[in-house]
Amino acid sequence: MRITIHGAAGGVVTGSAYLLETGTSRILIDCGMFSGGRKLESANRVPRNGPLRKCDAVLLTHAHIDHTGRLPLLGRLGYDGPVYATPATLQLTAEILRDAAHAQVEDARRENRRRRQRGAGKPDVEPLYAPRDVQKLLPGFREMPYDQPVPVAPGIRVRAVEAGHLLGSASFEITVEEDGRKKVVVFSGDLGPRGAPLYRDPQPFKDGADLVFVESTYGDREHPTLAQHAVAAREAVGSAVEQGGRILVPVSAVGRAQILLYLLAGAFKRKTLKPFPIFLDSPMGIKIAETYRGHPELFDEEAIAMYRSGELAANLRTLEVCRTATESAALARKKGPFLVLAGSAMCTGGRIMQHLQNHLPDPTTLVMMVGYQSRGSVGRAIADGDRSVRVGSRSVANAAKSHVLGGMSGHAGQAELLDWIGTLAPSRPGVVITHGEDEARTALAAKIKERFGLASRMPAQGETIEA
Ligand code: ZN
Repeated sequence: MRITIHGAAGGVVTGSAYLLETGTSRILIDCGMFSGGRKLESANRVPRNGPLRKCDAVLLTHAHIDHTGRLPLLGRLGYDGPVYATPATLQLTAEILRDAAHAQVEDARRENRRRRQRGAGKPDVEPLYAPRDVQKLLPGFREMPYDQPVPVAPGIRVRAVEAGHLLGSASFEITVEEDGRKKVVVFSGDLGPRGAPLYRDPQPFKDGADLVFVESTYGDREHPTLAQHAVAAREAVGSAVEQGGRILVPVSAVGRAQILLYLLAGAFKRKTLKPFPIFLDSPMGIKIAETYRGHPELFDEEAIAMYRSGELAANLRTLEVCRTATESAALARKKGPFLVLAGSAMCTGGRIMQHLQNHLPDPTTLVMMVGYQSRGSVGRAIADGDRSVRVGSRSVANAAKSHVLGGMSGHAGQAELLDWIGTLAPSRPGVVITHGEDEARTALAAKIKERFGLASRMPAQGETIEA
């Protein structure tokens, strides 16, 4: 078998995609979008004659856009085959891709308007894909329950195992039988930290493997747990609420937003915070919340107890979802205190922009950062305390406070990655390290060598590994 790496390699952490080929079958594991700068994003296309265009099945480890975002491009090229994932991942993926397609269309429209205004005579840009390309994929969605091997192509069966990273997230154990020989390949997907709120812990693999692909986002370090950060964040929120301030949280509606809501419910329940109005300002917020409510079996024990007793719903009764742009715009006139969760997560666009324009000049405003803010982004400028910030096309005076809530990454730290590999190590697998920056994957490779005596490969984009 051959496995070719089409993303999240060579020091890049986005665009996850692996093509596994045997003599009879071709399957694609993840089909993620590249993000983080124009040069990288130009890789977001699937050439008509490229290797990804023809496969028998697609498997998705989890719904995040960097693992699913290029899938509609296959739809555009006519792919109408099966897409296998856990039920929760399929539901979240449908929503994320619909939302991404709308954003692509909107971005292209905005760019074309700009080109026409400038009169540069440049031709119109095409959106990367459109909602109809997403629609074409949906009939092929096939549910793959956890822990039950599913045949996905001739000679290939797959078992999904809890990865603890997002609702529905999985690692895959892929068994390939060819010419009377059997090989097992494990793909970690993104691995969550142990003991994180809301989600179950990642499950180990005990049966061994011939080859293992492991992510290395935090391969060179431990990161502080959410518990270590939560108290300071709660105090910052509490004092903003006391002053009647508005709390703006740049975040995507999937994943971190749901964890934050769960943490707020816990703080209201324990009375460490007094309840205040919360707005999830996202058109897809309702669907995402429904998906989470539909899968309490995937929560950890504490969250299941809170859900079953009705305490989760009771403590989130101040939560409202803003579906329309009008509902979102109405928040400009609403008096504090309230908290609003809106995208995009790095303040590069989306509904968070108008809230920042409206409320950054107010000293009672608190901007709470829950994710990485890249250099040069609006989010980074606010976190750095710049007193004047460019938000979209406007320069806005910034008198707001900001607070960075760490520990929300949803990725395992170095020790947890090593423990995960440790359960596979006795079978002496080949190790392939992906999904990490250079320092991270090099440090993880050194630790794997030291602890288990296993050599690791750190492939470049486009490299093929034979097994
Ligand atoms: Zn992820």
